[in-house]
Amino acid sequence: MPLLEKYAGRDAYYVLTRINDAVVTYQLTAGGERRLASAGVSAGQHFERALLLDLYRTGDAYAPGHEFPEAVRANQLSLDLAGDPSPESAFPTCDGCRSVIDLHLELTGSRGARSAHLHCPSCRATPTAIADTSIPLTLLSRSLVTRLFGDLEVATRSANVIRYVSLLDAEFVQRWDAVRKQRATVQSQLFEGEALGGLGLG
Ligand SMILES: [Zn+2]
Ligand SMILES: [Zn+2]
Repeated sequence: MPLLEKYAGRDAYYVLTRINDAVVTYQLTAGGERRLASAGVSAGQHFERALLLDLYRTGDAYAPGHEFPEAVRANQLSLDLAGDPSPESAFPTCDGCRSVIDLHLELTGSRGARSAHLHCPSCRATPTAIADTSIPLTLLSRSLVTRLFGDLEVATRSANVIRYVSLLDAEFVQRWDAVRKQRATVQSQLFEGEALGGLGLG
């Protein structure tokens, strides 16, 4: 399961998770931090992969690829424990090398034979793979993708493009509600325990 961590020197958070045997650092927007906080997830806690997938598809969590010194200790942590209902394969990856860093949707080929792929920075730099259109996933939305595919007559989509589009279509509201309720229950139990202890009744 992904782990929420706070930067040591500043008031900002990041998420660590393991995808395809690599530890990936996701940066959060202010909105992403707020959504996790309102679900009751605080620094040092693991949370459901579904929430990270949702933050990712809305652009509130992104993997720019710079690793921060604080994130290095992630290698010693047990991440992504078994039992998470959303598999790590739900994350779209580069069609060339399976990286999840800084992915772009890329369109190549001419009208009628145009194809769509996801590519990381190093695969985008390959001369044979230069695309006509290259858009960071963080800037895309479901409506924009639909319009692009229609207007540009995209004929084929890679497995990762299909995975990404299904992520844009996914419904995560119930997952957030479930986490929020579950954590609120735990919090109130803790609070009751403390209150009773303080009164000498516990
Ligand atoms: Zn790649
Ligand atoms: Zn490709």
